[in-house]
Amino acid sequence: MTNSKLHIYNSHSGKKELFVPIHQNFVGLYVCGPTVYNFVHLGNCRTFISFDMVYRYLLHLGYKVRYVRNITDVGHLENDADEGEDKIAKKARLEQVEPMEIVQKYTLDFHDVLRQFNNHAPSIEPTATGHIIEQIEMIKTIIENGYAYEVNGSVYFDVNKYNEKFPYGELSGRKIEDLIAGTRDLDGQDEKRNSLDFALWKNASPEHIMKWPSPWGIGFPGWHLECSAMSTKYLGETFDIHGGGMDLKFPHHECEIAQGCASTGKSPVNYWMHGNMLTLNGKKMSKSTGNTLLPNELFNGGSDLLERGYHPMVVRFFTMQAHYRSTLDFTSEALNAAEKGYEKLMDAIKELETLTTSANSSVDVNALVASFYDAMNDDFNAPILVANLFETVKAINTIKEGKATITPADLEVLTKEVNAFVFDVLGLAPLNSAGDDSKLEGVMDLVLNLRQQARENKDWGTSDKIRDGLAAAGLVVKDGKDGTTWK
Ligand code: AMP
Ligand code: ZN
Repeated sequence: MTNSKLHIYNSHSGKKELFVPIHQNFVGLYVCGPTVYNFVHLGNCRTFISFDMVYRYLLHLGYKVRYVRNITDVGHLENDADEGEDKIAKKARLEQVEPMEIVQKYTLDFHDVLRQFNNHAPSIEPTATGHIIEQIEMIKTIIENGYAYEVNGSVYFDVNKYNEKFPYGELSGRKIEDLIAGTRDLDGQDEKRNSLDFALWKNASPEHIMKWPSPWGIGFPGWHLECSAMSTKYLGETFDIHGGGMDLKFPHHECEIAQGCASTGKSPVNYWMHGNMLTLNGKKMSKSTGNTLLPNELFNGGSDLLERGYHPMVVRFFTMQAHYRSTLDFTSEALNAAEKGYEKLMDAIKELETLTTSANSSVDVNALVASFYDAMNDDFNAPILVANLFETVKAINTIKEGKATITPADLEVLTKEVNAFVFDVLGLAPLNSAGDDSKLEGVMDLVLNLRQQARENKDWGTSDKIRDGLAAAGLVVKDGKDGTTWK
């Protein structure tokens, strides 16, 4: 086990804190997964890539991590006030299919996209519909403890009662009086005792499709409760790290804390981590406003916003250019810069294999390697890590030019650590190593042969068409004295 000085910014305390896991050799990490009613957009991906990096660094430090990321496949209503249609049921109605067909389609898309971004799969990926019994049990406990009440087959969490004993609103820095002032008055028709109360279980109308029997009648669980039940089941009543995008802080995570405290008397999470938003045109990328970019549009250039496509690894590298707690704005200039940087980094990694060694090192390898750890130990500061890797690229190039020296032992350390941080921690992969690219090699040989034949036949029209078509797909062809190469 590495004796690391990892510090994590805890959104609950508002401070960077030394990371001390509950168990010596087991870290519990829970990240709220998507509600699978639509294709994941690049903003969603940013959050999941950030937490993939967190997971990867914990693994790199030698921790055994149980990483749980759920799939929300029921209970997420259209607005946060427990009203409106279930997002999945609505999509199923519009597409005239079963809700579970919607769930299947968008779960597959989610997995496919994250695989292309080289994300590790979580250790457990529980679904809300697969944990109805656990949710019902948790609601029973909360009722028994006096923090929830039943009305007409629905169960609501009693926020005022809870707030007498536990502080509600601490995570999101809100005061209960301000929250009450910000909600509309109950109109007498409402089942809730108080406007801040939230549903743990909702009674289902006869036409509602996704519903289950419970002690309170036929219904379905509340969205906030799902995560509490699944995290408790797999990680325990209190676990190490809970993550998600900033927009989940309130009400979702605030309610998770309340549910945890109300059922066990203890706060469920030691470190709360929140990723910031990916913006497009300066505004949050979001399904509801249509201000989105889908990963596949980005990979194949099929968006009006872009002139061409980008490799998923370049996009992943782009997401590492800002700290996970800062906003990141999407522009094609930023992507182009990320692509150049990515190629430079990969070229330098290849150079490591061919460097000539000397009896002494003039390069301070220990300091370079320490700078990688320092960056990541400081609340997973990936952009500083990237900057430090580029310092290393400079050092590699000076050794290559004969202006600096390195011993065989230092070279071995540097090679091992650079590879570990670039591939294991940042989760990047060489552009030509990803599964599909090995097939691409064969296809490119064929295409370049056809182009060569066209050139020999002086069929410049065809040869230019091939070159331009490849360029549009993000593949640059170069004719040199040793033949034709592509990148
Ligand atoms: P959803 O399926 O909408 O619940 O979102 C899944 C995850 O993506 C949540 O953790 C959200 O906080 C996160 N998310 C949504 N929009 C963005 C965005 N524009 N940038 C970064 N993360 C986002
Ligand atoms: Zn959640």
